[in-house]
Amino acid sequence: MSIITNFEKIKQEIKNNSFQNETEIIAVSKTFSIEHIMPLVEHGHKHFGENKVQEAEKKWKELKKSTNDLSLHMIGRLQSNKAKKAVELFDFIHSLDSEKLADELSKRQKEKDRNLGYFIQINLGSEEQKGGLEISELKNFNEYCVNKLNLSVLGLMAIPPNDKNAEKHFKRISELNKEFNFRYLSIGMSNDYLQAVKYGASHVRIGSAIFGTRS
Ligand SMILES: *Cc1c(COP(=O)(O)O)cnc(C)c1O
Repeated sequence: MSIITNFEKIKQEIKNNSFQNETEIIAVSKTFSIEHIMPLVEHGHKHFGENKVQEAEKKWKELKKSTNDLSLHMIGRLQSNKAKKAVELFDFIHSLDSEKLADELSKRQKEKDRNLGYFIQINLGSEEQKGGLEISELKNFNEYCVNKLNLSVLGLMAIPPNDKNAEKHFKRISELNKEFNFRYLSIGMSNDYLQAVKYGASHVRIGSAIFGTRS
């Protein structure tokens, strides 16, 4: 099936299953060449996700200049030494999870006169290989980012453990998101986006179901 067919099918499914809010599809284009992604850009889709700064820069820097309203989402782990480039290229960061990174992003966006949107990543299963804060750290960290650094924190992001309990994890993060009165919630990938929508996802991050299997 073509990328456009995949995308339109997912969009319709999400529409049929969402009842509370609009859900934005972030087309996760990591590992795919710009030639492979281009049909979806030409189709008019505006939100794309990448997980590496260098790869994203190669693929998107020029295209962003020549295409109106493209929004790039950084969804992967971000090291603070890449904050400068990330601020230049991305519009949203979904992986905010340390004061050091927040400090650096804040400094860089002031230098560039940019104002990105941020999602605080939560490590729901306390998994060592994944980024994100423990739930217990959220309150202080959010206050630090918002009050001290003036970052536009829009919501939470999570990649739940791969333990077949996606619903349980989505429910938990959705409750947290409400507790903090956040506007957005970034949950749901190719395998579980409809469940995520059910729990109030404002942004789903979908790669392989749109672009095909990654090699
Ligand atoms: C790769 C990736 C996705 C997309 O995964 P698919 O299963 O291909 O939809 C979503 N979120 C993050 C953080 C990712 O790294």
